[in-house]
Amino acid sequence: MKVLVVNAGSSSIKYHLYQMPQAEILANGLVERIGQENTSLSHIFHGKTHTLQVKVEDVEGGVELILNTLVSKDVGVMRDISEIGAVGHRVVHGGEEFTGSVVIDENVIVSIEKFADLAPLHNPPNLAGIRAVQHELPNIKQVACFDTAFHATIPKVAYMYALPYELYEKYGIRRYGFHGISHRYVARCAAAIMGRGKYNINAITCHLGNGCSVTAVRQGRSIDTSMGFTPLEGVPMGTRSGDMDPAILFYLADKGYDVTLLKSICNKKSGLLGISGISNDVRELVQLAKKGNGLAKLAIDIFCYRIRKYIGAYAAVLDPVDALVFTGGIGENAFFLRRQICMGMTQIGVQLNQAANLAAVAKEAEISTKDSKVKVFVVPTNEQAAIANDTYELTRQKQPIPL
Ligand code: ADP
Repeated sequence: MKVLVVNAGSSSIKYHLYQMPQAEILANGLVERIGQENTSLSHIFHGKTHTLQVKVEDVEGGVELILNTLVSKDVGVMRDISEIGAVGHRVVHGGEEFTGSVVIDENVIVSIEKFADLAPLHNPPNLAGIRAVQHELPNIKQVACFDTAFHATIPKVAYMYALPYELYEKYGIRRYGFHGISHRYVARCAAAIMGRGKYNINAITCHLGNGCSVTAVRQGRSIDTSMGFTPLEGVPMGTRSGDMDPAILFYLADKGYDVTLLKSICNKKSGLLGISGISNDVRELVQLAKKGNGLAKLAIDIFCYRIRKYIGAYAAVLDPVDALVFTGGIGENAFFLRRQICMGMTQIGVQLNQAANLAAVAKEAEISTKDSKVKVFVVPTNEQAAIANDTYELTRQKQPIPL
């Protein structure tokens, strides 16, 4: 069966067409700058890349372009779009309702719409992608895979904020967590590498990309995660602040900063970029730090220190930790940051094999010493494969996928 995976954002759509169950990628690509004059499509098939500049107004137009490309004479990989057996969508927010991936029906659509209030930048384009497919392929089975769903097992003691309880009841203010598809995927890969079942591992998973989050996984299930009500909480990120004293915002509000400006500071001008004043890319910061740039070094030091603190906190709640897993653009590639994060963690049983760490760039690898109590792994994340798999399974089984 062919499964199309769609990740629709407000200005871009990523897609992967899989042959299942072997999870072979038949084609994949990206539509970028939707809504601008210079929308572009890059489409990869049989090892070749086809690029196209064409104006696309909205997500609906982007989905149409993708489907047309997949069946085009020159660069297509199918004769007819009816060859697609099911479509899986990445959906950011499933609120408290969705504890796993689900087959999409009108009720699911209403809920995704409702949770747009909690994820105003993400759920609306995700939903637009679902509707566009519905329009082009009215009878096809569609599946929603939520970034929040893996964290549905977090206990109340960890998901509640110490705010008046009525704010939870009235507005749903609680920790939801994000990056769940990735955390689940890499935790299961780590269990497989260790020769264990997926529910037989305690792990701390670090998804470090442009957005960063750390998750505590007990017996294969998320029990705490660093991102909270929104993806702003937790460790510092490329341009997001992560944890801070919320009174800083009240103080700045008193100084005349309005909500729009505060949002922009915390989400777009903080983190690695905010501290260094130069870049949110760790590769650039490391080069600058080597040349003596103090703020670039400070940005990296703060980033690593704060991740260490979360690892320490989750080691305390997991006890014991079987595995520490790094993933995401930084986690998979930046061996120098992995080294700095793991330095001096012998107390909690982490001992890095320096040579293995150095060699582990963009590939799955064990990077701890033979004696390390906690096994440390690099696992390239593969959210689209996880979505394809859930979609295939759900389409066949017609049952909710358990966590
Ligand atoms: P996103 O969260 O947008 O998917 P990624 O997971 O691709 O982002 O991570 C992007 C970040 O990963 C970049 O900003 C950069 O800091 C880091 N990164 C990517 N490639 C490398 C590399 N080869 N070496 C070091 N860092 C890298």
